[in-house]
Amino acid sequence: MSILVVGSVAFDTLKTPYGERQKILGGAATYFSLSASYFTDVRVIAVVGEDFTAENEAVMTSRGVDTRGIQHAKGKTFHWSGEYGENVNEARTLNTELNVFESFQPQIPAEYNDSDFLFLANIDPVLQTRVRDAMQNVKLVGGDTMNFWISGHREKLGEMLKRVDVLLINDTEARMLAGDSSLPRAARKVLELGPRALVVKHGEYGATIFFRDGEFAGGHHPFRAPALPLDEVRDPTGAGDSFAGGFMGYIASQGEVSRRVLKHAMFYGSVMGSFSVERFGTERLQALTREEIDKRFEVFRELTHLD
Ligand code: AMP
Repeated sequence: MSILVVGSVAFDTLKTPYGERQKILGGAATYFSLSASYFTDVRVIAVVGEDFTAENEAVMTSRGVDTRGIQHAKGKTFHWSGEYGENVNEARTLNTELNVFESFQPQIPAEYNDSDFLFLANIDPVLQTRVRDAMQNVKLVGGDTMNFWISGHREKLGEMLKRVDVLLINDTEARMLAGDSSLPRAARKVLELGPRALVVKHGEYGATIFFRDGEFAGGHHPFRAPALPLDEVRDPTGAGDSFAGGFMGYIASQGEVSRRVLKHAMFYGSVMGSFSVERFGTERLQALTREEIDKRFEVFRELTHLD
């Protein structure tokens, strides 16, 4: 099975309690692709500038990611700067230089038309909607968004929400989207906007999936996966996208989309998020093995297993 992802490929300038990095490879689509590449075939649609090197691209291709959908445009690559304090769940954006991202028009290469799954990483909902509508034959669509689109672009976002099967956002975004401070109530309201399931990420506290009634076989009660208590979260950047990559990648590797598969996918998402934050940038996601991933899956199982 294969997954197509559309989203940002970026350079990130970061400051965390563990150090600083200038213009390292990042972007939602990058984290997602590397993470999902341990489970299934991945194809990317994004745009980069003239400062994006062959070595940068090789980070993805060496994991088998198909980068033919990355457009090379005149100008500079999208550059995000952010910092984290002691609260690893909260990124403070210092600067966003859109650069070539400003005029990004996603083009879908013909070779990508047979993709089985689709992930719409956090970009303008109009572009997300366009790509989704061009990919009518996919089995499941996952999507992400952020506070900027929730607070200022409701109508555009509404169109996108009608077209995703599983929305993955954090608690603050879920409450903001629903205008309700109760998480279960907010989840029900978000599910009324379109998605059949909602994954709410709680940062270092795990993630919860809420199901719309009658949508997935096996019951509709919410399910929570923990996050691994780590001694050192060096760089939380990309945790959400790495989670999404593990989540969607695992689903694609299974072929069927049942409640059971979605619950396991929540654990694989958490596993990939936990690896990602152990090092700066994409470093940890570049050189994992499936064995390490499955071993950590068992640690997660142990963490919550009641005998
Ligand atoms: P995450 O920490 O998983 O929420 O995602 C972090 C990644 O999102 C970083 O690598 C950034 O390059 C990227 N990013 C930050 N702001 C935006 C934005 N406005 N649009 C698209 N991608 C962004």
